[in-house]
Parts: sequence; structure tokens; C-alpha cells
Amino acid sequence: MSIECKAEYGGMYGNMVFVPVCDVCGAELPVEYDFMDAVRATEEAGWKSRIVDNEWRDICVDCQEDER
Ligand SMILES: [Zn+2]
Repeated sequence: MSIECKAEYGGMYGNMVFVPVCDVCGAELPVEYDFMDAVRATEEAGWKSRIVDNEWRDICVDCQEDER
């Protein structure tokens, strides 16, 4: 899974945040506070999700073009 779950510190307790990361180049989308929002963000950005070696990989737009 390439939507990383990170702890964000700054309040009394850390919030869990979700950061979509391209599995090819490491590009990141802005932090989301809900997993489904993070998934939606990848779709809106034109990222593709596919299964490689039984794992979900997220591919950003730039890396999709590299594959053609
Ligand atoms: Zn990429």
C-alpha cells in the first residue's frame, strides 16, 4: 500500500494522516486526514492504482507517461 499512514505531531496528541506516495518516483500528494480522502485524491490527480506482486502500487501521472 502506497498511501502512507504517518503520525503528525503538533497538538497534545499526534494525529494520524495519510499521504499518497508514487511507488515509482516517490512524489507525494498533500496530506489527507482520512484514508478514503487520500484514495480520492489520487483519483482526482489522475494517479493509477494497480496490483504488482500482490501489492497495491500507486503510479503518478508523470510515471504513467514514462511507461508508454
Ligand atoms: Zn511518479
